[in-house]
Amino acid sequence: MTTSQALNADLHCHSVVSDGTLTPEALAARAAANGVALWALTDHDEIGGQHRARAAAHAQGMRYLTGTEISVTFAGKTVHIVGLGFDPDDAALAAGLAATRGGRTERAKEMSDGLAAVGIHGAYEGALKYVGNPELISRTHFGRFLVESGACRDISEVFRKYLTEGKPGFVPHRWARLGDAVGWITGSGGVAVIAHPARYGFTPNEEYALFTEFIAHGGRGVEVVTGSHSAADAARYAVTAQEFGLAASRGSDFHSPEESHTDLGTLPPLPAHLTPVWDLLSGRIQ
Ligand code: AMP
Ligand code: MN
Ligand code: MN
Ligand code: MN
Repeated sequence: MTTSQALNADLHCHSVVSDGTLTPEALAARAAANGVALWALTDHDEIGGQHRARAAAHAQGMRYLTGTEISVTFAGKTVHIVGLGFDPDDAALAAGLAATRGGRTERAKEMSDGLAAVGIHGAYEGALKYVGNPELISRTHFGRFLVESGACRDISEVFRKYLTEGKPGFVPHRWARLGDAVGWITGSGGVAVIAHPARYGFTPNEEYALFTEFIAHGGRGVEVVTGSHSAADAARYAVTAQEFGLAASRGSDFHSPEESHTDLGTLPPLPAHLTPVWDLLSGRIQ
């Protein structure tokens, strides 16, 4: 018998509605071809692809959970909160996401100025060529331009040299507040999940504060098995999930066939002793 933990669920990926390179329909086809049974599209700060994604999932014989990945500023760093199973027509959620997206264009122009100061010209216009959604220009789009222009070999080199804190194309930005992001998700019937916790580089005290405040605001899940976690990271956050009484999520964070190391539906299963986040969402699966 297949346990719930062994379900091939992939609850984190990006389409052209944010910084992925595939349409929701192409992602759904790829997920289904890789054996995904339960899927969610989680574009950054956007739910504009949700109705298409749900229809495409059903056309491919998959079950669907609505999804998004909200950018949050916590303890001076950017943290991502995945929302799953919310009502995609909720007005407060839509307004919160629109406010979170606001400011991306101004930030992108400042990033471009920073790059121009080190001799890389036309980066804003160059990045725009890769943008599928004018409200959602991200560092990833700059990364694609810098690879295309020959400034870097690949996207990770771009981030290392130009787009992370202290580098010429990095512009500090104030995203949503943790409590607001969790509130928009839970207020629209969804479950909030801390995305890829191993990526933040928090001290133990900061990480403890993130988890306790997240839970105090109503957050209920954490990504344990995800594309940017090593096996050791997954083992570590399996323990953290149990300690904090959080459900566990699984998602590839797939962006592009050319750029992503982890394909849709190809992650290891969740550890058997954890509660899968989809067990909390049985009434929200479509
Ligand atoms: P933004 O929301 O504009 O700050 O862009 C964040 C996005 O950049 C993330 O969602 C990833 O897709 C991408 N990203 C962040 N760090 C890296 C990295 N080191 N290598 C490749 N992509 C990255
Ligand atoms: Mn991204
Ligand atoms: Mn993320
Ligand atoms: Mn992501």
